[in-house]
Amino acid sequence: MHHFQYKGDELYAEDVAIKEIVAKVGSPVYIYSQATLARHFKAMDEAFASVPHTICYSVKANSNLAVLKNFINLGGGVDIVSGGELYRALAAGVDPKKVVYSGVGKRDDEIEYAIESGILLFNIESEQELDRINEVAGRLGKKAGIAIRVNPDVDPETHPYITTGLKKAKFGINIERALEQYARAQKMANIEILGIDCHIGSQLTKVSPFVDAIKKLKRLVEGLRGMGINLKYLDLGGGLGIQYNDEEPPLPSAYGASILEETKELGLHLLFEPGRNLVGNAGILVGKCLFTKKGEEKNFVIVDAGMNDLARPALYGSFHGVKPVMKDQDGVLVADVVGPICESGDFLVKDREIPNFKQGDLIAFMSAGAYGFTMSSNYNSRPRVAEVMVSGDKFEVIRERETMADLVKGEKLPSFL
Ligand SMILES: *Cc1c(COP(=O)(O)O)cnc(C)c1O
Repeated sequence: MHHFQYKGDELYAEDVAIKEIVAKVGSPVYIYSQATLARHFKAMDEAFASVPHTICYSVKANSNLAVLKNFINLGGGVDIVSGGELYRALAAGVDPKKVVYSGVGKRDDEIEYAIESGILLFNIESEQELDRINEVAGRLGKKAGIAIRVNPDVDPETHPYITTGLKKAKFGINIERALEQYARAQKMANIEILGIDCHIGSQLTKVSPFVDAIKKLKRLVEGLRGMGINLKYLDLGGGLGIQYNDEEPPLPSAYGASILEETKELGLHLLFEPGRNLVGNAGILVGKCLFTKKGEEKNFVIVDAGMNDLARPALYGSFHGVKPVMKDQDGVLVADVVGPICESGDFLVKDREIPNFKQGDLIAFMSAGAYGFTMSSNYNSRPRVAEVMVSGDKFEVIRERETMADLVKGEKLPSFL
């Protein structure tokens, strides 16, 4: 459920007409609903209310400071994958003790920044990373908390590009090799073993892969107890899917019930790293129809938003619902909705029956709150679009539209030209 609904023939974000936002801020624009963000966070939080847990929102899904602040206010922590994301989360006021740091390629300066900031733990993704973190922590005279990200080799049955928990993936440490890494960590002077972690993929629409992964992790936790290693945290990653089209992902309550059932005897503090589930349906991208081209072979609706603004369709062939901001079109047609970018992959919608949009119509691309703005780029020298947050009958710009001057910021002509 989200708060992008029609009142009469007009699409609203909560109690604000989308048309009113575009009139003030321009097009294209990302619009987020604060009530939807809060609702999704609370649903996840309440699903685990009966046990100690922390919801560490995955910053990469949508890293706007206002989005982070909204979750932090509700008691959330964050899952980060870079020093830049740590910077953002700290700027938004996160409690460092609620920060977990994942990612296969952490640099020394990022490790140092995270240790100095006092984060809760690093999710270790390789043997060499473990050594590196021990070394950097030693240099700083500190101890670094760690969990080992285990690759449980389960198939989440999602898109191959967002599958991360199979043996062939670059992520985590194979489950058979995890015990030896814990044994190594146990002997390291500047490492404090705190937990175990897995994140098997994204946009999962079933609970069973999560449960399969937990069953494998449980055996490992018992093995560790035998070695005198008593963990505090079990980090189950993110990955719970959302409805883009006709998917039927489990509700957070059902996901929670299955996980609690499977983990209760462990008595560990649970960590979660949801991204998409919290923000995906809390945001839309609004663009304007510039031109229509009706051909014998294909119809095109050309809009002012492109793959540089919303990359998911081009990257994964993913589905975003399309809605007219004003319902005043005559009938429907089968068309592609495409952007202005000079690439054939630049489409937002492919071969779908959509309203018969005309020049000037505003079009909402639904479910664009996750991996939307964060994946956007300046390709074709297009300034990145504005972001707006709505709350009730109010809205504010939470990121200014970039200017032409922003496009060349930092560029310099060399002296030899
Ligand atoms: C991307 C990512 C997440 C969030 O995934 P969602 O599918 O958006 O919930 C969580 N943990 C890690 C380690 C990630 O890389």
